[in-house]
Amino acid sequence: MNFKVAVRRKDRLIRDRRKDVYIDQIILKEPAICSKCNAVYSNGRWTWKISKQAVTKTTCPACRRISDNYPAGYVEIKGKFYLLHSTDILNLINNVERLEKTERPLERIISISESNDKTVITTTGIHIARRIGEALSRSYQGNYNFQYADGEKSIRVFWERDK
Ligand SMILES: [Zn+2]
Repeated sequence: MNFKVAVRRKDRLIRDRRKDVYIDQIILKEPAICSKCNAVYSNGRWTWKISKQAVTKTTCPACRRISDNYPAGYVEIKGKFYLLHSTDILNLINNVERLEKTERPLERIISISESNDKTVITTTGIHIARRIGEALSRSYQGNYNFQYADGEKSIRVFWERDK
């Protein structure tokens, strides 16, 4: 217990020292609007609410991560099961994104890349990466686990099923 508290405190120090440009927004004059995706920043959070007063133009952290190709989340899918059911699995993953993005504008998929031995999905947020892992595990069982890194600012999710 004590150990965990100590670790968390250390993380916070690191985070304070090295400001995360994708999370700690430059102080924006609210409401602000992302000129790429039209997400609105108001009362300290991003929403899809339309705001006529949003005159400050900016680029939201999700759009910046997408254009920099700098993911916060990685989901790695392995095993033969994927090869046999990739259409259903990708539908499930896209549904997770649709739901997640509606509630949290900064949680999106950046890319899905398939190779012979694995499929990797990169995301703009850590929340959606976990949601994808949970949905795979709930729908198809298999082995699911995840690991935070970088003071919980990034996450790697693993899901594997062989048959
Ligand atoms: Zn945006």
